Amino acid sequence: MKIGFLGLGHMGGPMAANLVKAGHTVLGYDPVPESQEAARANGVEVVDSAAAAATGVDAVVSSLPNGTIVLAAYDDALAAATPGTLFIDSSTIAVDDAQEAAARATAAGHRFVDAPVSGGVVGAEAGTLTFMVGASEADLEAARPVLDPMAGRVVHCGAVTAGQVAKLCNNLILAVSMAGVSEALVVGERLGLSHQAFFDVVSTSSGSCWALNTNCPVPGPVPTSPANRDYQPGFATALMNKDLGLAMAAVEKTATDAPVGTLVADLYRAFGEAGGSGLDFSAIIQQIRGENA
Ligand code: NAD
Repeated sequence: MKIGFLGLGHMGGPMAANLVKAGHTVLGYDPVPESQEAARANGVEVVDSAAAAATGVDAVVSSLPNGTIVLAAYDDALAAATPGTLFIDSSTIAVDDAQEAAARATAAGHRFVDAPVSGGVVGAEAGTLTFMVGASEADLEAARPVLDPMAGRVVHCGAVTAGQVAKLCNNLILAVSMAGVSEALVVGERLGLSHQAFFDVVSTSSGSCWALNTNCPVPGPVPTSPANRDYQPGFATALMNKDLGLAMAAVEKTATDAPVGTLVADLYRAFGEAGGSGLDFSAIIQQIRGENA
């Protein structure tokens, strides 16, 4: 297939590279020269606008920073694409923005699949991302040859926007579980429990979770976790704050009483403002210990 790709950053770069490896022709657009260069080295045909990336292709994948940028890029791309083109958005954006992107795509005679991802840069590079898809059955089937080379798993969550809903729910849990693991580790530390003993017990007990087992917020027990490299991300606190903003907007929209998530969103906002934005979100343990970021 011929595929357009908008946004060749930390996620989009390796995702586009995996499409090339699978034998697809990829026309990529990103305004940043470093991203363009890396994409070119991976076999992406770099073009100079979103419209050029959408011209004459079967599908357009996007992995962009936020909903405003997605909608702006779509305005250029939708007008240039051949009617019936499949637009697949893998960015994490607000549910309302995904709805608007779908409305604009279908009004222009195209098809739209919302397909945010989980798995981070490691999953993007390995082609093992989990895609959370909101789309009709037929559009998902059409999207599969595009998604498969980038995916470990594709979950059909429901109609358009269900993917974004799943993503914000998952990341709300992730923030809460990381804050909980970090608080418990600090209590354990202060009562003389070693990090290794804490890990050995909790990772195989009912407190087990990804925040501890894979992204352990202290160095040692999980050598690949960001805590072992001074909390270089990983998943940056700035991105977590973006996702918590989307989650809190959804909480407000649905008038859900969510005191735990709301408190954790406040903790992360404060941590970002105190200088933690560029650190992995597991560095929240420093704030819980009372250290400066
Ligand atoms: P990034 O900032 O590294 O990449 C975004 C890219 O989009 C940048 O290279 C930027 O230059 C480019 N861009 C900006 N405006 C553009 C435009 N108009 N047209 C084309 N390209 C444009 O961000 P990322 O980490 O790759 O994340 C991309 C999306 O994936 C975000 O929505 C993020 O929330 C989501 N996500 C990220 C992770 C992660 O671990 N990084 C995990 C899951 C989901």
